[in-house]
Amino acid sequence: MKYIDEFRDGATAGRLAARIAAELQPGRRYHFMEFCGGHTHAISRYGITELLPEAVQMIHGPGCPVCVLPIGRIDQAIELALARGALLCTYGDVMRVPASQGLSLMRAKARGADIRMVYSAADALGLAREQPQREVVFLAIGFETTTPPTALVIRQAAREGLANFSALCCHVLTPSAMTHILESVEVRERALLPLDGFVGPAHVSIVIGFAPYEQFAAHYRKPVVIAGFEPLDVMQAVLMLVRQVNEGRAEVENEFSRAVTREGNLAAQAAVAEVFEVRPEFEWRGLGSVPFSALQIRPAYAAFDAERRFDLPYRSVPDHPQCECGAILRGVKKPSDCKLFGTVCTPENPMVSCMVSSEGACAAHYSYGRFRDIALVST
Ligand code: SF4
Repeated sequence: MKYIDEFRDGATAGRLAARIAAELQPGRRYHFMEFCGGHTHAISRYGITELLPEAVQMIHGPGCPVCVLPIGRIDQAIELALARGALLCTYGDVMRVPASQGLSLMRAKARGADIRMVYSAADALGLAREQPQREVVFLAIGFETTTPPTALVIRQAAREGLANFSALCCHVLTPSAMTHILESVEVRERALLPLDGFVGPAHVSIVIGFAPYEQFAAHYRKPVVIAGFEPLDVMQAVLMLVRQVNEGRAEVENEFSRAVTREGNLAAQAAVAEVFEVRPEFEWRGLGSVPFSALQIRPAYAAFDAERRFDLPYRSVPDHPQCECGAILRGVKKPSDCKLFGTVCTPENPMVSCMVSSEGACAAHYSYGRFRDIALVST
């Protein structure tokens, strides 16, 4: 297949669904976690849950970069913009994430803070060049996909001797989060989260390759199939996972071979390794403090590290007490299990980040009609 329409062809999807159904073992249930928010979005948008047989259950994972950002990190960014006078730039979705004291970056902007939405890390660097009298801070978030551009702008700022640019680094690591889930009490002890395999990340894997997932297949006996974000990619990945489970195999397979290799993008990995090192621990929304799960800027580039430059403390802040985001990000609950879903919490009035980003499980369910299930149940 060559064109995007072909990866969204309904007739082919129907044939794949029939193939999956035909290959299921009678009486067996299959539980697969789609790690990425991009897959969650595709599954909701294209109605993949309805196409799959009832015996195949898809479980949302923690792979939405905005959703896993804890309140304390947004608070840090707001402090930089409101209290320290910095010009703060970040990607669009982050602007609406609720923070402490009823604030968000958007609301802080309404209070006079200079906060700008940018489309790329390079845009933030451009602002620093244009306004040398201002401290420009880039709130850098995301998984391995968005880390290389941050590394490149920090390296470029160092080369240009830009004294007014820094990054508040909140980049997180996919394999650490997968390990955390597999080691969680819910998976290992309570069997609250039956997991037969993973639909592995698409864009992240373009950067890091698929070799890092081989440990999950070897050590935890969990199959991983790397899949693209189109609906037929997801359907094909589910079929490959079903076959692995049926045959008792636990391997890493690459459905997204048009973009992903075992080694990944070595140039991007080298840029990241030059600028960043692994943090001893980092707080994730939903997962709590996860060891070796995020990146920080190396001492050689300390001048571009906003946390050091502004001596910025980190304070952990609990989520809304009724929000189930944490359990949803760990895969043990669904958005419809939250009492606030579709009533108090909607994309227009998000209580927590899972309802903000289009990759968030709650926003995806709401936007593509899953909220109707709630309405039907409650009438
Ligand atoms: S519906 Fe809103 S409050 Fe409930 S889990 Fe989702 S984001 Fe949190």
